[in-house]
Amino acid sequence: DRIPAKGFAVFSADDTFHPHEFTRHAIGANDILIETMYAGICHSDLHAAWDEHKAHGISGIYPMIPGHEIAGRVVKVGKNVTKFKVGDYAGVGCMVNSCGHCTFCDMDKEQFCENGTTFTYNSIDRYHENEPAMGGYSNNMVVNERFAIRIPETADMKRVAPLLCAGVTIWSPIHFSKVGKGDKVGVAGFGGLGHMAVQYLVNLGADVTVFDITEEKRADAARMGASRYVNVNNEAEMKGLNNAFDFIISTIPAQYNPLMYARMLKYGKGEMAIVGLPETATINVADLAMGGAANRKVYGSLIGGIKETQEMMDYFVAHDIYPEVEVISANAAEIDKAYRNVQDGKVKFRYVIDMNTLK
Ligand code: NDP
Ligand code: ZN
Repeated sequence: DRIPAKGFAVFSADDTFHPHEFTRHAIGANDILIETMYAGICHSDLHAAWDEHKAHGISGIYPMIPGHEIAGRVVKVGKNVTKFKVGDYAGVGCMVNSCGHCTFCDMDKEQFCENGTTFTYNSIDRYHENEPAMGGYSNNMVVNERFAIRIPETADMKRVAPLLCAGVTIWSPIHFSKVGKGDKVGVAGFGGLGHMAVQYLVNLGADVTVFDITEEKRADAARMGASRYVNVNNEAEMKGLNNAFDFIISTIPAQYNPLMYARMLKYGKGEMAIVGLPETATINVADLAMGGAANRKVYGSLIGGIKETQEMMDYFVAHDIYPEVEVISANAAEIDKAYRNVQDGKVKFRYVIDMNTLK
């Protein structure tokens, strides 16, 4: 039997949120039913709801219920489920299914599944008769246990949800680039993802410089352990930074020039991971060769696989590394307001919707 569900949807790219009732696919033998407790608001949710990825071949599927930072409690399990029992905490991140047997699934990189990853929303679920997937701003989730993350009983549930996307998105490239103690690192864009990156890099013993466009967050960066804060609009602060960093992660969601950061990498050694997904920012390839950034490595990174998401979850909870959250109640006007504030840079540092208040 299909599972009744309700949440908040936009019906077009220029819509505001509305309460929306729908159904989810029945609980299969390997599925669990999660009652949502908290759902984070990621800047990717804004890009998706507002259909800002058309240039990258992704069009919005409406009605759309965003949300891929989901924390809740297991209320039912299918008959073959071994990873969870009723009552356990469980989380869902950016994806809910993949083929399980291709090159990338075998590498635990299900986000690149050759036969098609089903993302948590704004995605056609080819494993369930091509129904559109519906995300976490809703009262429940039905998901294959392989795609559910165990959340330790000791976790702070109010703050844990954003780890499912923001947490693993910064964890994955930090490991890919083998960042370690004493490395000189930069975090460009000090928002939801950026403040998780700062905390984890400080925890690893790296020397962290934060780049953002506001004065409002200077004290927060110092409080989280960054050694330096650079307002990129302040020319004096931008001096002497070239050729200085082992690693830079860019979480910037808006127009910028990535080569400005590539130049700051150490010659022959530095690596830059791009995770921010602006609609239009581009790298001029000739400038990459001629503009002072030659022989630095620049790469993109997309969330992380399920295995590394679990490793991140266990490590962050054990080390008390959490986002700073503003909890809002589950109603359409509150979500609309949160979206405006994320867009305008007025959130410190992540909105989390308390889905318990959806009645
Ligand atoms: P936030 O809006 O929370 O944070 C973005 C931060 O970047 C803000 O602090 C913002 O400043 C700052 N910023 C904006 N423009 C500039 C600029 N030109 N230079 C420096 N800083 C700037 O967003 P999130 O952290 O939630 O997401 C960031 C990006 O990462 C989004 O594009 C999102 O889609 C993407 N993302 C990518 C994933 C992946 O797998 N690759 C996964 C998840 C998210 P201010 O606050 O002052 O506006
Ligand atoms: Zn996200």
